[in-house]
Amino acid sequence: MLRRGPFFFVLTRPIMSSLLKTYSERLAETLPRVRDQIAMAEEAGGRTSGAVRLIAVTKSHPLECVEAALQAGLEDLGENRVEELEAKVEQFGAECAQWHMIGHLQSRKTRRVLAVADVVHSVDSLKLARKISTSSLEGEGLVEVLAQVNTSGEESKGGFMIESAFEEIAELAELPGLRVSGLMTMAPFVDDEAVLTSAFTSLRRLSESLVASLDGFGTELSMGMTNDLDIAIREGSTMVRIGTALFGPRPGYTA
Ligand SMILES: *Cc1c(COP(=O)(O)O)cnc(C)c1O
Repeated sequence: MLRRGPFFFVLTRPIMSSLLKTYSERLAETLPRVRDQIAMAEEAGGRTSGAVRLIAVTKSHPLECVEAALQAGLEDLGENRVEELEAKVEQFGAECAQWHMIGHLQSRKTRRVLAVADVVHSVDSLKLARKISTSSLEGEGLVEVLAQVNTSGEESKGGFMIESAFEEIAELAELPGLRVSGLMTMAPFVDDEAVLTSAFTSLRRLSESLVASLDGFGTELSMGMTNDLDIAIREGSTMVRIGTALFGPRPGYTA
């Protein structure tokens, strides 16, 4: 339902501006706080200042949220559904931000995602990686990908299982048409610091062994969300994916 046509936008424009104001006002408060939190975590973790990139997760939020984010100077935006990503790129253009696909991707949608995403964080199987490789070679160009790893063993989480991740990701890294810039994980949704630390540490260790063994394997670590960004940064994150702390609870969105 990407093409609702001008009717949709003309009709909703007046309503949209007050929502835009709401998002802008919220961001004026939250963005400096989140940036401070990242800077403090970098310092506490002995990391270089500016080492961590902020991916603003606009998923499930309306177009006004993206507009407010762009106006606030956010340059990396994260989405988890192809349809919604397409609708937002169609509205604002591919050039205005780096668009990150962070949600599970069905193999049959690889072609579509390559047309709109700059980075795909959620490459969670060799099957999907092969499809992306094929689509990429067929003309969408070299795409940047991260291999998603299931560091918690939870069945509800996607990604390469940690036990077999090294071999499978080494195979993935050989596929043509992909640039593997690093790894991504989602920690379990818990407050237990030891559990969170262990998930992030195992991703970092895996990254270290892949980087040491494979020529040109990327060093990015996409880890850390609203609830666990401090720990993720201390454990070596280079990209945090933050939604709630910036934009509040997600209202739901249908593209
Ligand atoms: C939704 C989502 C986020 C953002 O989560 P918050 O807790 O709102 O910061 C980060 N990463 C992924 C993969 C997500 O799906």
